[in-house]
Amino acid sequence: MAQFNALRMFLHANGRIFFGILSRTLVIFTNLAYDVGEKWDFLMNRLLNLVLKLVPAKNRWIAKEKIRLSINALKRAGQPGNNVVCDCCGNRFGAFDSVPPRGSQRCARCRAGERQRLLTIFFEQRGMLKKRPLKVLHVAPEYVLRQQFIKEPGLEYVTSDILVGNAEYIANLEDLPFADGPFNFILCCHVLEHVDHDQVAMKELHRGLSDGGTAIIMVPFNKSRPVTYEDPSITDPKERLKHFGQEDHVREYGLDLVDRLQNAGFAVETVYADQVVPRDQWGRHGLMEEEIFVCTKGVMAPKTAAVHAESVEASR
Ligand SMILES: [Zn+2]
Repeated sequence: MAQFNALRMFLHANGRIFFGILSRTLVIFTNLAYDVGEKWDFLMNRLLNLVLKLVPAKNRWIAKEKIRLSINALKRAGQPGNNVVCDCCGNRFGAFDSVPPRGSQRCARCRAGERQRLLTIFFEQRGMLKKRPLKVLHVAPEYVLRQQFIKEPGLEYVTSDILVGNAEYIANLEDLPFADGPFNFILCCHVLEHVDHDQVAMKELHRGLSDGGTAIIMVPFNKSRPVTYEDPSITDPKERLKHFGQEDHVREYGLDLVDRLQNAGFAVETVYADQVVPRDQWGRHGLMEEEIFVCTKGVMAPKTAAVHAESVEASR
């Protein structure tokens, strides 16, 4: 154990060199054995997880993504062609990779999905990451979006997640370990549908913001439901999959999501994907029907999803 700790300390101090050597070694091995099959993939994953135990927990997710992307870069070039563009990394392909079971459109280079591309375009359109000072809390951080934040000069960036090894802070969204209002930008995508007491979590997000600050929230959203469907008695993963669409979801949101966010104190603007990119260009950018809830603290200009849904319906 003492030797293990000594090795861990050494690696901590020399992380950059270690990861350089490690990722290159893994890339070579993966390429050599690419066609050997599933057993090799299984072994590689086991090896990767073992190696990651040597990395300090708060950096583990970053190390894992870096290694995966290094492997990706050599193993998969993506389908040749110019039909689609990934707005996260700028690469063009013949098509995105279709990922089962839902056939989501994944970039072969940076692993971005529909949601990450939509947010990247949206942030760019509104100049959201250009404001200063910008102090960001990224909840359940997606690596590809982290990259958008950290390349911005003068931006402060903090991550939190409920699981060890996924972020700097291990935190339950129902009880964030921060004082009131240290952030003026919070990104929280596809988290609230996992949280037991989402109203408590929304209030925590509101508390974490300074006045005028913005929380960008996304969830699986069914706009044909007037009221959110939830039932705390459904706890079996198979039943949750059947009722809420995923084994670890505790609800499926409907139009009253906006009311819930307003109850937590936010002014809410609902932005639909076709307001960001015209529908006829979704194929090229790998986008789908999705909503971005722009939640502002201390500004009273609410615009509800219901009102927008009516206006979209009227315009068709
Ligand atoms: Zn990409």
